[in-house]
Amino acid sequence: MPDPSSSSFSLMSASAPSPQTVQKKAVRADILVIDDTPENLHLLSTLLNERNYKVRSVTKGVTGIRGAIAAPPDLILLDINMPEMNGYEVCEQLKANESTCDIPVIFISALGDVLDKVRAFNVGGVDFITKPFQIEEVLARIRTHLTLRRLQLEQQAQNLRLQQEISDRRRAEETFEKSFLASPSPIAITTLRDYRFLAVNPSFMRLTGYAKAAILDRTTADLKLWPEPALYQSAISQLAQGTRCESQELECRTQKGEYRTVLISLERITLHGESCVLNIINDITERKRIENEFISVVSHELRTPMHSMVGALDLLSTGELGELSEQGAQILSVATTNAERLIRLVNDILDLERLKSGETRLNRTHCNIEDLFAQTVDAMRAMADEADVTLHVQAVSVPVFVDCDRILQTLTNLLSNAIKFSLPGGTILLTAALEPDDILHIRVIDQGRGIPPDRLESIFERFQQVDASDARKKGGTGLGLAICRKILKQHNGSIWAESAVGEGSTFHVRLPVE
Ligand code: ADP
Repeated sequence: MPDPSSSSFSLMSASAPSPQTVQKKAVRADILVIDDTPENLHLLSTLLNERNYKVRSVTKGVTGIRGAIAAPPDLILLDINMPEMNGYEVCEQLKANESTCDIPVIFISALGDVLDKVRAFNVGGVDFITKPFQIEEVLARIRTHLTLRRLQLEQQAQNLRLQQEISDRRRAEETFEKSFLASPSPIAITTLRDYRFLAVNPSFMRLTGYAKAAILDRTTADLKLWPEPALYQSAISQLAQGTRCESQELECRTQKGEYRTVLISLERITLHGESCVLNIINDITERKRIENEFISVVSHELRTPMHSMVGALDLLSTGELGELSEQGAQILSVATTNAERLIRLVNDILDLERLKSGETRLNRTHCNIEDLFAQTVDAMRAMADEADVTLHVQAVSVPVFVDCDRILQTLTNLLSNAIKFSLPGGTILLTAALEPDDILHIRVIDQGRGIPPDRLESIFERFQQVDASDARKKGGTGLGLAICRKILKQHNGSIWAESAVGEGSTFHVRLPVE
């Protein structure tokens, strides 16, 4: 009965395999029998064929060697006593040839033969079988050596794969190292656990002003590299969620205590088994300075003509220069609305620039948050009525020592946003609570359209609007929240948003009472 399980040989080639050529493939094991006795050849061939082995048989040593070199078999059964060239000599030649040296050779000896075991092993034989054949024993030995050979080939293939992997990895490391060292972008590798520096490139040292020895093994906190660690932390938390963090704007503090504006991109990597962060930095300080200067010059230049334009439009609308047709009045009203929006935009830009440059000092006075709430609601009442939105205030009487105009500006902006993004019939709640450490926690809660989670932070950057059409449709400038954040920062407070899309948003303000 054929026994396919015993005869299948799962590796293809008998000579040293390359990772590509070695594939798992269940093929019939190929056995070469070299024996000068035709009866033996016939007996073994029949026996092995029945077991589903592929058998080639030859009667001469030289023919056997030629056949083995031309198509290396998986195993050779080799008679010792042969005329011309005996088994030992055949084996020696097989072992001397690169393509046949690893093929297992089992010697066949007749019972009466004088078997020189030492010589047989010395010339490279792996085993013996003796005539007359004990069938089960012959098959067991063949199976054993085929298995050993298969394992050996697998091992070789595995080694080759590993060597290939090691050299690929080494090449990748070299490439990374070259790019790391030559990169014009500052790059640092830190641990994820405590942001400890493991490697920095020359550009990073130039940016921060630190020598390598002063950075390595210290943490970003030791160096006070990020003046606002919470912002860096929020960039890191994007990594924890599995997303890459790309181009997050941050302030970076140099060794001399100067502040540079940078964009950081973070990538999570593993180094020596430890989770690490690849920090790729782009210094945009100069770009920002030019941009800000440009914006502020243009804004200044725009302000005067814009004001005179609005004045002229107002004069036209009074009718003193002649009555306008109904259509003319309509067009005039559109022009006035847009001109006023432009003035708001220019004013906001200049305001933000002044706040950012630290030009505006806080004008702190004593007031009560209850009064500030009342003033905000008074200012916003008409807008809320027009939008059919109800305003609720749950104020507490807390005396504060703040720049009251600036806090009023903040509250007005938050309330105006809440109204703008609420649906008719909606309700807005304005609350304040005094928390430990004399922190006033103000909340502006609406039931409006909400803000997607990935925009909760970016809306505090200038010109960032969730919907590109917000500026046009809602008359905003995209600068209000950036201004609010600057105002709170000047007060050593903070502002952030929480939201559920379609359910509403809560804007939180933490304001030290003085
Ligand atoms: P804008 O002048 O456009 O209101 P802001 O800086 O005040 O500028 O707000 C930025 C963007 O944040 C808005 O355009 C809007 O997309 C979003 N936003 C602000 N407040 C809310 C809110 N209460 N509900 C929904 N989206 C809001």
